[in-house]
Amino acid sequence: MYEKLLETIDERVDDLVTLTTDLIRFPTINPPGDAYRPCAEYIGARLKKRGFGVEYIRAEGSPGDTDRYPRMNVVARFDGRTPGPTVHFNSHIDVVEAGEGWTVAPFAGVVKDGRVYGRGACDMKGGLAASITAAEAFMDVYPDFPGAIEISGTADEESGGFGGVAYLAGKGYFSKPKVDHVIIPEPLNKDRICLGHRGVWWAEIETKGEIAHGSMPFLGDCAVRHMGAVLEAFEKDLFPALDAKQTRMPVVPDGARRSTMNINSIHGGQTDDFRPGLPSPNVPDWCRLTIDRRFLLEEKIGEVKSEVTAILDRLKRDRPKFDYDIRDIMEVQPLMTERDAPVVSAVAQGIREVFDREPDYVISPGTYDQKHVSRIGHLHDCIAYGPGILDLAHRPDEWVGIADMVESAKVMAIGLNLLLRGPSAR
Ligand SMILES: [Zn+2]
Repeated sequence: MYEKLLETIDERVDDLVTLTTDLIRFPTINPPGDAYRPCAEYIGARLKKRGFGVEYIRAEGSPGDTDRYPRMNVVARFDGRTPGPTVHFNSHIDVVEAGEGWTVAPFAGVVKDGRVYGRGACDMKGGLAASITAAEAFMDVYPDFPGAIEISGTADEESGGFGGVAYLAGKGYFSKPKVDHVIIPEPLNKDRICLGHRGVWWAEIETKGEIAHGSMPFLGDCAVRHMGAVLEAFEKDLFPALDAKQTRMPVVPDGARRSTMNINSIHGGQTDDFRPGLPSPNVPDWCRLTIDRRFLLEEKIGEVKSEVTAILDRLKRDRPKFDYDIRDIMEVQPLMTERDAPVVSAVAQGIREVFDREPDYVISPGTYDQKHVSRIGHLHDCIAYGPGILDLAHRPDEWVGIADMVESAKVMAIGLNLLLRGPSAR
């Protein structure tokens, strides 16, 4: 079957671990976006040695891009002997801050009990290392392969991806004919394929009031009480309606397999900075609420918005002096690559070969860089697949299992073989 390919990966486990620990030792914390350049150059230097053409692309003018913190990206490409499709592995190189509660140094790349520990171990430097190992083993075992392999390390995924995949997609790096299939090795577990994510709508609602002396509130109009009416209407009418909206999208965890809305923040009237003094007595003339609505393939963004504005308009009709503004902050469309798409079929077959079982197909509750590949690059043959346990991401003592990295490198290598050399080639 794939003995030679799988053996080659097994033989390289020490190199895979070294690669992972080296990557963890770059403290690519975002924000502010530290150490992107040396980390990108490390990846580029390694792949250049293997014959890849390497480009460094700084996302000039993207949010947070400065000479101190350049938004550095690396894209490496290796063209096979003959023309054919291109498979692109995309990993973000940024990590979130370490935070408290660690029992190992978060940027030391500690190896212990079959695991590599460190911030970014599972999210997602372990996945990046596994994809490099998979590509190199595939190239060595099948040197005459057709098509091309690309590997990128990109900035800023944790802060929205604007200085990373969104920027590159805007320059044509994630579109046909340059690229045909994209695998993002995010930590979704080694036997699961992530097909996409729910949609997002963030908005800010403001209710209006009229300032007056707090001892005579009847002379003013309290914006916070108006917002209270909004919240009451949400509790009574909106949240139960959202709970009832189930989806065919296989979102994990189960609780996210429906529409949800979080209230991110609420502020009204005076700010908190009167402390340690005392506030002066005022009727608040404004109150602002931010909402984070996650929606489904079965919903249209227009309907999602009008569910909320219908409630606000009803209050405007029925509640004396009620007035509001609403402002969009961000929207992302829901995405789901179909199960019969080429990249899904290829990785699914890799999972069957390595684990002797059917893969689980999942949808992420939150978004990741696939949104930019789809919306800006118009490339829809894209999934997330990689080693590591999603629940460990962003937590203290984050780790990735060495055996998990090896196994998912095998799945990726078999996927590469199917996408580039075809189902009959072994
Ligand atoms: Zn990630």
